[in-house]
Amino acid sequence: MKLALYYNKIEDSKVQCYLCPHNCIIKPGSTGVCRARANMKGELYSLNYGKITAIALDPIGKKPLKNFHPGSMILSVGTFGCNLKCSFCQNWTIAHESFDESSDIFDVEPEKLVEKALELVPSGNIGIAYTYNEPSIWYEFVYDTAKLAREKGLRNVLVTNGFISREPLEELLPYIDAMNIDVKAYTSSFYSSICRSSLDDVKRTVEISAEKCHVEVTNLIIPGLNDSMEEIEELAKWLASVSHEIPLHLSRFFPRYKMRDVSPTPRETLFEAKDVAERYLKHVYLGNI
Ligand code: SF4
Repeated sequence: MKLALYYNKIEDSKVQCYLCPHNCIIKPGSTGVCRARANMKGELYSLNYGKITAIALDPIGKKPLKNFHPGSMILSVGTFGCNLKCSFCQNWTIAHESFDESSDIFDVEPEKLVEKALELVPSGNIGIAYTYNEPSIWYEFVYDTAKLAREKGLRNVLVTNGFISREPLEELLPYIDAMNIDVKAYTSSFYSSICRSSLDDVKRTVEISAEKCHVEVTNLIIPGLNDSMEEIEELAKWLASVSHEIPLHLSRFFPRYKMRDVSPTPRETLFEAKDVAERYLKHVYLGNI
């Protein structure tokens, strides 16, 4: 457990966290929406500092990052918790567990993780990817580790939903080399009703980050929810206005978590969406096809 960054003390020993745009007001003994930050006696603590639930040396293409050190490997780590509540979560077993529910957690200090990453360099490792669950909600651990990893010549990669406030994002970006950011849909209604968050905040993260590091974007196409070609076209147009060099990954949905009643995305939809997006973007890839 570690004292958190980005919060204010308010009345009656409550705190307000402003790490992400939820800006949770948390009373003593409670956690925020992400279930990873808790008010203990009027101070905010990160519950998942150094708590690892998954670790693997993955191909970089699995993040997915296609145009960043293609063919390399990256030491990938994740913890528990998420600040979004997407009913279609493809990683729900760790993203929606809480500290008490996670059975296979082990502790690691930033120094040890960086040491491990360096040991794996001869196996093709280029650095550390903060992935599997949402990395911004173990911000303090990612920040400390990324800084150290950078000093040792390693690369840092975030695989994120992009729902982070501007100030913490800008503080972290100097240590980040590449990001894959999920843009889950291109309508505000999808974000508010399905993910309980907001499209504009995610767009801001893409726009700020693309100026500072390599960015690729993933869009999971879900039948009946975000699969209209008009929506794909709007997404591609906006992304091209940031940079038409940003790779877009159009990914196939499979029924998971609370959305098991929707069929997998038809392959034809993905092919059509790729054709539409390629009118605006240089690099469009299909995932899980
Ligand atoms: S990081 Fe967690 S506690 Fe902080 S505002 Fe976001 S959801 Fe709430």
